Amino acid sequence: VRKIANATARRDRVDVVSVALAAALMVVAAGCARRTPSAGFWYSDKTFALPAHAAARLGGPLTDGELASSEAISRREVERAFTGLNIRVNDDPSAFWRVGVVDSLPRRGPLPNAGESMPLGWMGGAGAVSFELVALKAIQYAPDGASRQAIVEAIGRGIGHVAVHEFAHQILNTSAVHNKEDEHSYEYPSPDRSSQYYGDLHWTTARPFLEQKLR
Ligand SMILES: [Zn+2]
Repeated sequence: VRKIANATARRDRVDVVSVALAAALMVVAAGCARRTPSAGFWYSDKTFALPAHAAARLGGPLTDGELASSEAISRREVERAFTGLNIRVNDDPSAFWRVGVVDSLPRRGPLPNAGESMPLGWMGGAGAVSFELVALKAIQYAPDGASRQAIVEAIGRGIGHVAVHEFAHQILNTSAVHNKEDEHSYEYPSPDRSSQYYGDLHWTTARPFLEQKLR
């Protein structure tokens, strides 16, 4: 009888321990869920200038006002892409995941890059968007008769879309976020498409993984 009583007592102790452990895990999980990671998207503080031939095509260099409006549009695009996910978009260069807009990027392959990223795992990630390449492509893909304002907006949209793609690389910590099937997706791996500048993009293959990661 004593043996049985001891066994019961032991089982009770085990139950108490496992309940305490489960409670502790729940607190940790709740703590994780409450912490919202950040995505820092910012412009390096230099003034961005177009190459001379591009400025000529546009009818003169971009004004400060046009740069500001293009920047605002790019920021709205980044915010829109992450709506509904547990992530906070700000303009902090020291955010967990971060993408800065720079003049241009060094060429690393046969074609110049619109954006690049280095996923850093538990340290987040860092990346950049080339203002110059996006602006040139926005001019190249401008529909016939597009107004100057439409092209300025397209530059902002393109920069935002490239930044979203780079954030996806960093957040999912992989280069395997590409989807070559849908030209209107954030995951499409090339700046050579009109939709990047003049269309609306949407998530495809990466979305379920982002939802899993950013709960
Ligand atoms: Zn990519």
